[in-house]
Amino acid sequence: MLSFNKINYLCLFVGILIFGLNIKYQLSLLWLLVLGLLWITITVIGIFHIRWNYFVKGRHCGSKTSGKIALTFDDGPNAKYTPIILDLLKEYGAKATFFCIGKHVENHLDIFKRIIIEGHVIGNHSYCHSVNYGFLPKENIEEDIDECNHVVKSVLTKKPKLYRPPFGVTNPAIAKAVESLKMTCCGWSIRSLDTRATSSNQIIKRVNITS
Ligand SMILES: [Zn+2]
Repeated sequence: MLSFNKINYLCLFVGILIFGLNIKYQLSLLWLLVLGLLWITITVIGIFHIRWNYFVKGRHCGSKTSGKIALTFDDGPNAKYTPIILDLLKEYGAKATFFCIGKHVENHLDIFKRIIIEGHVIGNHSYCHSVNYGFLPKENIEEDIDECNHVVKSVLTKKPKLYRPPFGVTNPAIAKAVESLKMTCCGWSIRSLDTRATSSNQIIKRVNITS
């Protein structure tokens, strides 16, 4: 599987090779530019595709033969939607993992407690879910994850072990922070993209649910 380190070493090796071939056989140095563009392309795809495990190895699905699915919900607790989801899960006797945002937990403690009481798993989805999360240095990300952990711990009495990065974005800084806090990075195998959907049918089609 591709990883950031492997690609870096491979590109370095090929770069030295191109340089050597330039000296011996006058191979055009434009190949270095091609190599650089290829490195940028792979790295950008790796940043936005958490399932590649490009920067950090994570969990994105269970056994394909188990016939089971794991439901996860991000960005809560939300005053409007989380109670509806909890009602539905209760109705069907299902459990899920809620990747919560620390500041939302503080704002909706009653809903957060209900998630716990009803037996669902709590994951860390950052404290502030800032839009520039992917540009933050390792120290700030570590601080942010830890802040959410503390908010969760103040109610749950234990820190969450699972972490889902905001927007599913990973990079070397996020990888180092996750490693340093000994958390398990979680992605997904199917993404509903419900925040961009204009109808429930669109979501149903995306998650490939047949009625
Ligand atoms: Zn999110």
